[in-house]
Amino acid sequence: MSKTNKETPGFETLSIHAGSRPEPVTGARNTPIYQTSSYVFEDTEHAADLFNLSRFGFIYSRLTNPTTSVLEERLATLENGKGAVATASGHAAQFITFFTLMEPGDEFIASKNLYGGSITQFGISFKKLGWNCKFVDPSNPKNFTKAISKKTKAIFLEVLANPGGIVVDLEEIVKIANEAEIPVIVDNTMASPFLLKPIDWGADLVIHSTTKYLNGHGTSMGGVVIESGKFDWSKNDKYPSLSKPDSAYHGLNFYETFGDFAFTTRARAVALRDFGPTLAPMNAFLTITGVETLPLRMERHVKNALEVAKYLELHPAIEWVSYSGLKSSPFYDLSQKYFPLGPGAVFTFGVKGGYEAGKTMVENVNLFSHLANVGDTRSLIIHPASTTHRQLTEEQLIAAGAGPDVIRVSIGLESIEDIIDDLDKALSCK
Ligand SMILES: *Cc1c(COP(=O)(O)O)cnc(C)c1O
Repeated sequence: MSKTNKETPGFETLSIHAGSRPEPVTGARNTPIYQTSSYVFEDTEHAADLFNLSRFGFIYSRLTNPTTSVLEERLATLENGKGAVATASGHAAQFITFFTLMEPGDEFIASKNLYGGSITQFGISFKKLGWNCKFVDPSNPKNFTKAISKKTKAIFLEVLANPGGIVVDLEEIVKIANEAEIPVIVDNTMASPFLLKPIDWGADLVIHSTTKYLNGHGTSMGGVVIESGKFDWSKNDKYPSLSKPDSAYHGLNFYETFGDFAFTTRARAVALRDFGPTLAPMNAFLTITGVETLPLRMERHVKNALEVAKYLELHPAIEWVSYSGLKSSPFYDLSQKYFPLGPGAVFTFGVKGGYEAGKTMVENVNLFSHLANVGDTRSLIIHPASTTHRQLTEEQLIAAGAGPDVIRVSIGLESIEDIIDDLDKALSCK
């Protein structure tokens, strides 16, 4: 093979090949679905080594599975991370992440511009575990500085925020977190690693709901947490789960032993082991297949989204469009900085006539599907105030960019003429 001077293969190549190799027994080229709950040990010593984490291998599919491992390695590679743990859903990834970082009574700071389900998980359910979340307006990074206390263990944000059009200045927030010696966690679901690699901007942990663009076809739930391998968990006493001996593993110190993949090892060996939100191998297989075409799909998603946003912006029945790819967006400059390839394909707009006009529009689309998902091949539409963000108060709705007049679209991969034609017809309905 001729030598190239390129250090690593391109993103498209990695999307197809990272983490996978032909199956050694049969030569099967595609990653098989290892539909098994358990794995035979060579002997008792082998079994003991696996249980002690002194040797890597497969024990039981709650912890590891060969199909899921391929997905984990591929996503860690695409995000420029050192390790990954896949989970049953995006919310499960968030849960095992905070379980690994937090003790009861601890705090973390989250951007208030998040997926509605995350606001509920952080603000209500996590409270029952003694984990307190402070929400701040991310448009001024100083708000994070002001909210930091001795008990703060992490900062959580979406750079490209769900539902719409908001871009958060990650680089500035990373500086604040570095100063406070705490990690930055980015939920990168809306961008995917094709459009943004948060670790390259200094993020320490990256989370995805793989249910969305990584799977890409609306066929399975899934989540993942990826670690950069760059955070020093021992430089202060804030992360005892990682930097102190673990009695459940004969005094094993995860950071000393596993270094740049200590976080994911601990998240798997303790949080996944004890709570069990494991990704099914079938869903891992479907997501691996989805990831192979991620670059192609994302290119077309953002191209179609920009055309639709431009069309809506000029439409007389539309009050406003919030898409950071439009020059009219207050986030246009930040969008150019973080998303040179395009700021995703999920955005919001308001129809003149508010709630009722919005409802009429959602009820009169034909090609668009009215449902609660994003990142499908199909174009999707929803009225967040009455669905995904329903649990929020009026104040939280407006704060999250999901006020009563707001419609959210996820622009799919159909012919652009058909997408626009469908919106055009729905907007002419009274
Ligand atoms: C969907 C979503 C989640 C939650 O993921 P699930 O797979 O539905 O559990 C979290 N964050 C964002 C940005 C999402 O879009």
